[in-house]
Amino acid sequence: MNYFSTKWTKKQKGHIIPGPKEMTSREEPGFLTSPDLNILTSRGNLAIAKIAREQLKQITNIDLPVIEVDCAEDAILICRESVIPASAAEKIRIELNRLKDRGLKTEAYWLEITESAMSMAGLDASGLFYAIQSLLQLINNNKNGRVPSLKIIDWPDHSVRGVHLCLQLPHLAEERIDLDYLKRLIRWLLAAYKLNTLVLEIDASVMYERHPELSRKGALSKDELGEIVEFAKAHFIGVVPNVQSLGHQDEFLLRAYPELAEQGSNTYCPSNPKVFDIFYDVYEEMSELFIPKYFHIGHDEIDAIGKCNKCKQVPNYRIFADNINRICEFLLAKNIRSMVWSDMLLPDGFEFKDACNADKYNTAKSIDLLRRDVVICDWSYGGSKEYPSIDFFQQKGFDVLGSPWYKLENISCFSRYAKSRNVLGMLGTTWTGVTLTPQHGDRAETSNLKSRDEIVDGIVMQGEYFWKSI
Ligand SMILES: [Zn+2]
Repeated sequence: MNYFSTKWTKKQKGHIIPGPKEMTSREEPGFLTSPDLNILTSRGNLAIAKIAREQLKQITNIDLPVIEVDCAEDAILICRESVIPASAAEKIRIELNRLKDRGLKTEAYWLEITESAMSMAGLDASGLFYAIQSLLQLINNNKNGRVPSLKIIDWPDHSVRGVHLCLQLPHLAEERIDLDYLKRLIRWLLAAYKLNTLVLEIDASVMYERHPELSRKGALSKDELGEIVEFAKAHFIGVVPNVQSLGHQDEFLLRAYPELAEQGSNTYCPSNPKVFDIFYDVYEEMSELFIPKYFHIGHDEIDAIGKCNKCKQVPNYRIFADNINRICEFLLAKNIRSMVWSDMLLPDGFEFKDACNADKYNTAKSIDLLRRDVVICDWSYGGSKEYPSIDFFQQKGFDVLGSPWYKLENISCFSRYAKSRNVLGMLGTTWTGVTLTPQHGDRAETSNLKSRDEIVDGIVMQGEYFWKSI
C-alpha cells in the first residue's frame, strides 16, 4: 500500500495528479524500467535522490543505486549509464533556461522520458522533487515496466498548498498516534500530490515539558513530533504548528484547569492572566521545536465571550482582537507570523452562512483592530463560483489563505477564485487526522466529520486544484 486509492484517483484513470500544465506524448517505445539502472544526481540533491530510491522501491520492488555525478543543476537522471552524458547535461541546461525565460520560478520542473533515459530537473530542489513525483505516478500507472515517451513542463498556480490535519479529536482522547501511518500520509498523500504545507493541530497531543498536565494520554513525545517535522521537510512540506487558543479548550486547557473557563463554556476567560502564563509557555516550547515561519493559533467558533464580570466591561470585539494581537506579538518577537480562522471576523451576508460568526458574538469590529500581519484562513464550504469573503479580508489589508473542505465544486471553484485574487495560497481543511487510519472505520464518531473516503478524496482534489487552479 503506497498511494491512497480513492474514488477521485480511480476516476483519473492513470493520469498524473495534479494534471501537468504542459505534456507532450510521443509515438516512441518509451523507457523500460529494470534492476540494472542507476539514479544519477549531484551531491546537492543526494537526499532527494535517496527518497526517490525509497519511493521507487516501494512501488516496484526494484532497488537502484544512487550515484553522485558532476552536475551543477537540480537534476536527476535514471538511466543505464553511470555518468551523465555531456549531451544530456547540455539538454538539461537548455530546458531549465527555457523555463526561466518563460518567467517560471520556484517549484517549476521539466521531465522527459525517452527510450534511453528518464530525465528530471527543477528550477529549484522542490521542482526536482515534483518532477520525481510525476515520474513515480507514471511508473505506478504502467505496471508493465514501460514508461511512455513524453515531455512535461509544469508549475504550480498557488505557492502555498496546504492541508490542515488534527492529531487530536475528542473521541481519540487516549489514542496512540501511529507515526508510520502519519509518515505514509505525508509521503504518499500530501507530497505525492504536490501539497507543500501541513497545518498540524497539536493541542494536547504532545508531551509538553513545561506543562505536562496539558498533555493527553497517547501524546507524542517532542522527539517523535520533531521526527515528523523533519520527515515532512525532506518531502518539501513545511509544517505549521496549530495550537488553538481562546475557543475549543474543552480537550486542552480546560481539562487541566476547568476554573479558567468563561462561565462554563469551552472558551477560556481572557481576563485571567494565568491563561497567558500557560499559553506563552506552550507557544514558546512549540516554536522552539518547529522553528516555523507561521503558527496557527485557531480562534474559530468561540462559544462564549464577555460573560464574566471582568470581561463584561470590555466590548467583545476588543476582547477578541486583543487576544489575537497579544499572542501574535509574542510570536512575532520570534519572527513567526500568526494564522487564524476567519469565521469570528466575518459578519453575516456572505455566501456560506456557517462561516459567518462575527454577528453572533459581536466580534465583527475586531477585524479593524487586528494586526495586519495576521494571516486569515478563510474557510467557506459553499459550492459557489465566487468567494467574496476573500475580497473582504484583502480590502481590510490581510493576507488570505482560501480554505475549502472536501467537495469538488468547493475546492475547484474556491481555488480558481482565490487565484484570480492573487491570495497567499490555499489551505484545505479536513477537521480530522488520525481518524484517517483504517482502524477507525469508515465514519468518525463526531457528527461533523465525513467518511474517511470523502476526506482522503478531498485531500487528493486539493492537491489537484491547488496546483492547477483553472
Ligand atoms: Zn472573562
